[in-house]
Amino acid sequence: MQRLHARYPFLEAARDAVATETVDLATVVEQDRAVVERACDRVVATLEEGDTGTPRRDARVELLSYPVARVLVSLVGERVLVRKYARAEAATAFERFTDDLADTTELKSVESTGLELSDLLAEFDLEDDVRETGDGYRIDVGTYLPLAADLWDDEWRLVNRALTGGGVPIDESELLALLREAIRTRVEDGLPFDVPEMIATALEAEAEEIRAILAELDLTREIDTVVPEMFPPCMKALLDAIQKGEHLPHHSRFAVTAFLTSIGMSTDEIVDLYRVNSSFGEEMTRYQTDHIRGDTSPTEYSPPSCATMQSYGDCVNKDDLCERIPHPMAYYEQRIDDADDDLDDWRERNGEEEAASGD
Ligand code: SF4
Repeated sequence: MQRLHARYPFLEAARDAVATETVDLATVVEQDRAVVERACDRVVATLEEGDTGTPRRDARVELLSYPVARVLVSLVGERVLVRKYARAEAATAFERFTDDLADTTELKSVESTGLELSDLLAEFDLEDDVRETGDGYRIDVGTYLPLAADLWDDEWRLVNRALTGGGVPIDESELLALLREAIRTRVEDGLPFDVPEMIATALEAEAEEIRAILAELDLTREIDTVVPEMFPPCMKALLDAIQKGEHLPHHSRFAVTAFLTSIGMSTDEIVDLYRVNSSFGEEMTRYQTDHIRGDTSPTEYSPPSCATMQSYGDCVNKDDLCERIPHPMAYYEQRIDDADDDLDDWRERNGEEEAASGD
């Protein structure tokens, strides 16, 4: 088993190595305490330090702890943990590959533990989409947008980029940041998944430990508040259009649905919001909403960034705050943060009104 796989367990080759090495994950979790302990450390460090903790010397333990950590994250099943875990794995990988790329030592060991930039580009099928230029790189805009979607600093917004011939110029540090995003997306893909009962039982104590740390950190409150008055102007406009019965193009419907799922609305609540629209089809709305939130697809989709909203013509009625944020979620987070503690959640308000009217 190569140490490279232990350092970068998200690689396809590492997955293959696990498949060859591991007869059965159930046996590993039942019999290999060192792997289970490292897997648990991996997830706990995610919450406490934002990285994946101290690696073990034994490459086998280190490599196998990755799939077991994914099982633990799935068992706990909290979206905030999935996001933090994926971010931490990507941050650790980023630190390692920036070191690898900076390491120009001639004294490479027989079994290399480092990655080359070309390896990373090939891993994510980016060789054709990223081209070296004299003073940096150029990446195809269609590849750039999803990779940069969760990078909220202004510099990532497409309007702040000198787009030429369908390509976005980037420097090397930006390319590495985009590769970190590719890793984060890959780690997040498919999480959480259903865990077979036998494995769940064997890992119950570790899952409980992680749940307790999560509860203590009180992270589950990430934006789970629905206050329409504080929605960004673009989302208000899209919701208004829905309420007026207008037909929304697919990208607009995707944007508003992804926004509503990201702030914690359930599929039922979103379906209720859409119900007033005459072009509403309950079955299709449910299907699309479940798909976007990742219940029926391997990916939990994020709402588009302001740059993407602008390119689709969905960015309207911009206000002062819009000038300072790169993403509709950042807008909403800022408004919620700036508000008093006592926020009037639309779902509670709606419930009270229904109760008062006897519905
Ligand atoms: S700037 Fe962003 S948040 Fe503001 S309206 Fe446009 S897309 Fe929405």
